[in-house]
Amino acid sequence: MAFRLEKIIRQHIKNVKPYSSARDEYTGNTGIFLDANENPYGTPGVVNYPLPLHRYPDPHQVKLKKRIAEIKEIESDYIFLGNGSDEAIDLIIRAFCNPREDNIVINSPTYGMYQVVAEINEVEVREAMLTPDFQLDDRYIEAAIDEHTKIIFFCSPNNPTGNVLSRKSILQWMKKFDGLIVIDEAYIDFADTPSFIEELRDMPNLVILQTLSKAWGMASLRLGMAFASPEIMSILNKIKPPYNVNGLTQLKALEVLENPNQKEKLVNHIIEQRKKLSEDLQRLMIVEHVYPSDANFLLTKVKEAQSVFNYLISEKIIVRDRSQVPLCDGCLRISVGTEEENQLLIKKLSSYSEVKIV
Ligand SMILES: *Cc1c(COP(=O)(O)O)cnc(C)c1O
Repeated sequence: MAFRLEKIIRQHIKNVKPYSSARDEYTGNTGIFLDANENPYGTPGVVNYPLPLHRYPDPHQVKLKKRIAEIKEIESDYIFLGNGSDEAIDLIIRAFCNPREDNIVINSPTYGMYQVVAEINEVEVREAMLTPDFQLDDRYIEAAIDEHTKIIFFCSPNNPTGNVLSRKSILQWMKKFDGLIVIDEAYIDFADTPSFIEELRDMPNLVILQTLSKAWGMASLRLGMAFASPEIMSILNKIKPPYNVNGLTQLKALEVLENPNQKEKLVNHIIEQRKKLSEDLQRLMIVEHVYPSDANFLLTKVKEAQSVFNYLISEKIIVRDRSQVPLCDGCLRISVGTEEENQLLIKKLSSYSEVKIV
């Protein structure tokens, strides 16, 4: 088997001509812009803003990609930027999967968006269950794949289980599978394993997803990244909405990305808090197990999960109830908060059994 992009892309996508935006035809910064039907006077109530809010933003996000290229040590044409990495997931499925014909394989339990996007697009989802210790089961993956499988999704570190998936196994699938391998690395900054970005130049079927929503603290800005060969990136760029990353987001992200040291510090602090929180949780009577985590959350098995969840809500502490998810029976997914937040959580959980109303 050999990977050929030509073969796996939906055939009609090859012939789609992208929308040529007003800002595509002239790329200079100065001039009299009468091409995009903008308000020439400006924005009501806005003066001296560091960005011309009345102008359409750069559809190709050139400056932002240049900065991300430096940080990630990869060329700009290996980068796609979207309105969250959720947009990249959607575009990848739409570019490669024919509705009612093709399928994707996911390793469950995992992030819910792969399935939601596939279902919206009438693309079949095939689940390969993880092992009870949340590792890849190659036999299940093998059994799930058929000639209509276009994409295998690997989420590593995985959400909601928190662990890194076997690198060896992912690499094997990368070599052996002739469709796309998508690795979602939303939590990679919290893991001590390297990103798969370094494999990109040798792996034409690899797509890596990352996001600025988690470690970089920019969830509100909605900026997701995909990394893949320039051939794959040009397909996503062709089918994306022209101005998918707004001007405010581009400007603010550029500013924030000037502080990689600060980000590193926060990440290290969160990792310390993760350890502390895990130890504190394990001391509680109601906690049966805290799974090891390479992410910024702890999958925690508790007695009477739903009732604990509801109690926490009543105390205005909101965690994620994953107790109905296969293999996550009785589990809550708890994000690592600030030191104070974690302490309060532990305090409330300690008094849970006393205040429990049956
Ligand atoms: C949070 C999360 C994302 C979402 O990222 P956005 O860029 O905010 O859309 C993607 N993948 C996984 C596994 C996540 O947990």
